[in-house]
Amino acid sequence: MTAIGGTLGIHHITAMAGDAQANVDFYTRVLGLRLVKRTVNFDDPATYHLYFGDHDGTPGTILTFFPWGAKSLRGRIGTGQVSATAFAIPSSSLSFWTDRLKRLDVSTQTASRFDESVLVLRDRDGVAIELVAAAGTESIPGWSNGDVPPEHAIRGFHSASLSLAGYERTAHLLTDILGFTASGDANNRFRFAVAGAGMGLRLDLVCEPGRMRGSMGVGVVHHIAFRAADDAAQLALRERLVDASHDVTPVLDRHYFKSIYFREPGGVLFEIATDPPGFAIDESPAELGTHLKLPPWLERHRSEIEKHVAPLAVAPSNNP
Ligand code: ZN
Repeated sequence: MTAIGGTLGIHHITAMAGDAQANVDFYTRVLGLRLVKRTVNFDDPATYHLYFGDHDGTPGTILTFFPWGAKSLRGRIGTGQVSATAFAIPSSSLSFWTDRLKRLDVSTQTASRFDESVLVLRDRDGVAIELVAAAGTESIPGWSNGDVPPEHAIRGFHSASLSLAGYERTAHLLTDILGFTASGDANNRFRFAVAGAGMGLRLDLVCEPGRMRGSMGVGVVHHIAFRAADDAAQLALRERLVDASHDVTPVLDRHYFKSIYFREPGGVLFEIATDPPGFAIDESPAELGTHLKLPPWLERHRSEIEKHVAPLAVAPSNNP
């Protein structure tokens, strides 16, 4: 049972990249995701904000990046961060992805976790990515740009791992307010899940008191966002977080969703983002990702912004 007013699972995950073009190439050409929006970081409009996901950028499928430039300082993955972002692939697709990644010069390791096989890899900037061969994934339609056959396509998030020095207070936040329930543990990994449909229903808290604290920079996750069905659900969650003494921002308009942010007890930056309005608010579904889109309040600065962000080459297969 989802707790009343809980979240619906993972909405998006945002990480820091180096070179923007290399970032686009890896996620669209290697992993076969769709670039669903090219905009800028609303808090730092000289930097791109690139969104990758399924055809529509459905909540639960969206990995986003702030590309800081090829020469930017690299971060360190550690405690107080999302330490791995896991995508779901069909259980029959493991050998396809193993072969494909090897051919594309991406080294992988195989792991087994809660009876599922996991391909562990890093993107070109060192962001920790996992492909989980998950039972039941076959029945979810996959989006394909032609590089990856639809039957093998990434379907969206399987889960994310949080590296924490201690996990109990974060666990309480998940179960008491965010609508998760404990769904298993193995060694130092504690899995939580929300009931419901869609992707990104699981979150793993990994208790690693001996690991170094993470530092911000290229190759690390900046924050993880959870889904609120609408504005009212988000406000209700905000009220409960404030009542529980979390330091939550006011509601911010992110154009494609509305957001609130707070730091969970283990140090990870959490966001609650609304499902609506979504990415089709300023581009047709067929054209998603083809133009630099700016929210109304940045549109008057467009010529200045365009001087700071380099043009991007995106394969036509992104918009078949
Ligand atoms: Zn976000």
